[in-house]
Amino acid sequence: MAHKKTIDVQAAVAIAAAEAIAAKTQGTFGVGGLMLDQHGNVLQSLHNNVIKDGLIFDPTAHGERQLIDWYYAERAKGRDLPEPQDITIVTSLDPCCMCSGAILAGGFNVVVAAPDKNAGINYDASATFPALPEPLRAQAEQSFSYPAILGTSLYSRASTGATPKSFFIGKTISEPTQALCSLVFEATSAEVMEMFNTDLPQELLKDPATLPADHYIVRALKQQYPDALTYRGKPHAPDAGLAPFLKQAMARDREHGGAGDAVALLDSFGNLLLCMPGRMTQSGIRSAFMETTRAYAQLRYKLMHGAVPARHEEIRHYLGHPKDGTFVFAKGPDGSAVSFMNLGAYGSTMEGPLPLKNPAQFQYVLPSLPEAELAAVCAAMPPLYRSVIRIRPTQVADHALVAALA
Ligand SMILES: [Zn+2]
Repeated sequence: MAHKKTIDVQAAVAIAAAEAIAAKTQGTFGVGGLMLDQHGNVLQSLHNNVIKDGLIFDPTAHGERQLIDWYYAERAKGRDLPEPQDITIVTSLDPCCMCSGAILAGGFNVVVAAPDKNAGINYDASATFPALPEPLRAQAEQSFSYPAILGTSLYSRASTGATPKSFFIGKTISEPTQALCSLVFEATSAEVMEMFNTDLPQELLKDPATLPADHYIVRALKQQYPDALTYRGKPHAPDAGLAPFLKQAMARDREHGGAGDAVALLDSFGNLLLCMPGRMTQSGIRSAFMETTRAYAQLRYKLMHGAVPARHEEIRHYLGHPKDGTFVFAKGPDGSAVSFMNLGAYGSTMEGPLPLKNPAQFQYVLPSLPEAELAAVCAAMPPLYRSVIRIRPTQVADHALVAALA
């Protein structure tokens, strides 16, 4: 969208609403946002891109997350952009846990239009953020704004949270614009959630390790990650055989400016599909988990895009939804904004309840928090994460794997 200037919250939210309409037109979640500098210049505006062409493109492609990666990519190219504390993101919908973690990790400001009672970080409308780990709450209170909506309908509200940056002259949102932001999201979210249920149940999945080496699915897996299918453990029970792959990615993560995290994705047969480091020097939010979940979604998207229906079926049989497999984090979540972003992105990847027979989908090797503290972080998350998906990271059972990474 053309760059312009806005010094009015209402005008900025109207741009976010227009992006949300474009998102609904694309068939993805109806959410949009924009990024402003300290004078109100629109640096970028964009919308949700989780679904493209009727396929899951990228479970992490929420508006705010994409804006933040765009910001870091521009800076990496040498563009002189203001520091995050001088930047305001305006979003049509309350940020989810992934986006809130990304916003807090970078130190950006955010102005929020519609609430999201299910996944929004301010789901309880208190603007005190009990859903965040305690150390992040004060920062959110100072950087997340919920402007007043003047009126008498159910969309009206008093302003809460931080005061929007001083360049905003008008500091309220009109009722019709707020209603539009809410309704565009509500009108698409059920349809989009259905998209996530087109994957096959685990009983119908086929083992990609039985495919010939020159099969296009095997070739695509190895092109993405050359060591794909070279390790196989018992389903959902990674053992010390996974250690060399994690250690190699952990070393790369450090080279890329990270703290030495790595995330592996095993399928429901126990096959290693991917093991990725983060790319934190390119962007402060490109963690190992973000890279891994995105790489797998985009691998499936690229294979399916433009393919005939019979191929779709084949791809769905051999490359199942990650919820039937296992994500193995080298390091367990801690109380940081990046970890909270990872937990949120994990939720966005699962989208719905974990399969009953795979409750330990999220495993980590080395704990960063005592188990009870980590469980408390997850139990405080908004309803989508704590009651629907029931995010519950657990340490791997294999002591030799833990010892190999310690
Ligand atoms: Zn989000």
